[in-house]
Amino acid sequence: MSNYAIETPPIVALPIAGSDALFPVRRVYCIGRNYAAHAIEMGHNPDREPPFFFQKNPNNLDPSGEFPYPPHSTDVHHEAEVAVMLKSGGTNIPLDEAEDHVFGYALSLDMTRRDLQGEQKKMGRPWEIGKAFERSAPVGPIHPIESTGPLNDGAITLKVNGETRQEGDLNQMIWKVSEMISYLSEYFELAPGDVILSGTPSGVAAVEKGDVMELAVDGLGSFSVKVT
Ligand code: MN
Repeated sequence: MSNYAIETPPIVALPIAGSDALFPVRRVYCIGRNYAAHAIEMGHNPDREPPFFFQKNPNNLDPSGEFPYPPHSTDVHHEAEVAVMLKSGGTNIPLDEAEDHVFGYALSLDMTRRDLQGEQKKMGRPWEIGKAFERSAPVGPIHPIESTGPLNDGAITLKVNGETRQEGDLNQMIWKVSEMISYLSEYFELAPGDVILSGTPSGVAAVEKGDVMELAVDGLGSFSVKVT
């Protein structure tokens, strides 16, 4: 018997490879400019400066394999990323314990309305309108860390219609997964269900309706997303 005044929102739950169980999502943190070559292509300094994060909404994560082209943009970019799912959290997590909180990893895309993001950047405004729109984060099945081991290196690639657009290696991350977890936990209380998108290598570019994006990372297989 519930006492909610309105209909309760559904829990966002993502599929886990090889299991019927689902992963419930609490928060989504995304790091910016975490690969030097991508920082350079966006016109920024590639040096290791303190990391910065923005957020997407839990229900922006979409495992369907379809990405509906969003309204109010004519320059929607793909950003190939690895999503890190947490099984536990806390505050002030020491670096050497950070990896113990990882449940698993998934292929993901940080889809971006680059034209709107660019306008917000110029005006010093927040990025949500460019980043946190409906279904802006396609995400593949989650691979538990027990099956992948810690993912700190390995090729990450994104092809569009069979042509390679993005190519990098997870070992090029400026801020490693454990560093992101430790850093975030100094500013926020992390908890089970939190997701961290770990940044994109260079080669971000626009998509069009009908395009098929195929994302692959060593150890995580591949994941196809059609722009509809
Ligand atoms: Mn990104």
